[in-house]
Parts: sequence; structure tokens; C-alpha cells
Amino acid sequence: MNKAVLEFSSRSSNVAFARVAVAAFASQLDFTLSDLEEIKVAVSEAVTNAIIHGYDSNPDHTVRLEIKVAEEFLEIEVIDGGRGIKDISKALEPVYSTDPERMGLGFAFMQSFMEKFALSSSPDQGTRVKMSRRAGAPGCKAMREQ
Ligand code: ATP
Ligand code: MG
Repeated sequence: MNKAVLEFSSRSSNVAFARVAVAAFASQLDFTLSDLEEIKVAVSEAVTNAIIHGYDSNPDHTVRLEIKVAEEFLEIEVIDGGRGIKDISKALEPVYSTDPERMGLGFAFMQSFMEKFALSSSPDQGTRVKMSRRAGAPGCKAMREQ
């Protein structure tokens, strides 16, 4: 097992930092470049949500990112201590957003790009998104080795 924990200010410029940090850590596993692109999208969506929804875009709070590698699995947790989510099942519906300017697709991307996904949240306590994906799925690996 190998892990890294990062805490950074809730500034949108740190979304890029978070995605690059996860991709760098994940590169110890056998992910393809396109796997890493998908993982980076999932991280961006979760961190963006923490900043804009959790903390209402106030840059003076802290987002916590925990990254773990265990055997072939990459596990990512994005945690904020912000406003939390009142209705989790509604928030998970594709195209649902509390912001009419947004598309409401962030959770849909996270779920389609990661194998396991779990959301826990309480109003006024914060939100935790936990997601994981296995590297070197057998079919892909065989193709790469040819
Ligand atoms: P998009 O991601 O397409 O820009 P979106 O952020 O509204 O739009 P999702 O990422 O799917 O869509 O999130 C759905 C809803 O869940 C959000 O509109 C918001 O109300 C709520 N939400 C998501 N993450 C958080 C969070 N960390 N804290 C509080 N509310 C959140
Ligand atoms: Mg979103």
C-alpha cells in the first residue's frame, strides 16, 4: 500500500494541481494514457464541486485529497467541510444541478470513469467522494503487450 494526502486552498486554480498530482501518483500503476485522462476528469469534477458547491467559491477553505494505491487499485477521496448535500439521490441524477448555469454532469462523469464510486454528505458538515479504479484490466493489458 502506498498513500499520499494533500490539502490545498479552495481556489479553482488548484483543480489543475489536484489532477496532475493524482495522475503523477497513479503512474506507478499500469494505467494507459487514456485511463489517466479519464481519472483526471473524475478528479477535476470532484474538486470543482468541493470548491464551487461545498465552499461557494470562497478560496479561504481547504480541500483534502487522499490518494491510495493498493495492489492494482487506485483509490481517490475528495473531502470538503462545506455546505453538504441535502438530497443525495437527487444530486446524483444526471443533469440535475442546483445551479441553472451548470450542466449537472459531474457525478455522471465520476461514475462512468471510475469503477467504484461512493458519495457521503451531510448538510453543514461537508462532503466526501470516494472513488476507485483498477489498473491493467486484463483485456487492455494483453493489447498493450502485443
Ligand atoms: P457540472 O458538474 O456539470 O458543472 P454540477 O456541479 O451542478 O454541474 P454535479 O457535479 O453532478 O453537477 O453535482 C450535482 C449537484 O450536487 C450540484 O449542483 C450541487 O448542488 C451538489 N453538489 C455536488 N458536490 C457538492 C459538494 N461538494 N458540496 C455541496 N454540494 C455539492
Ligand atoms: Mg459538478
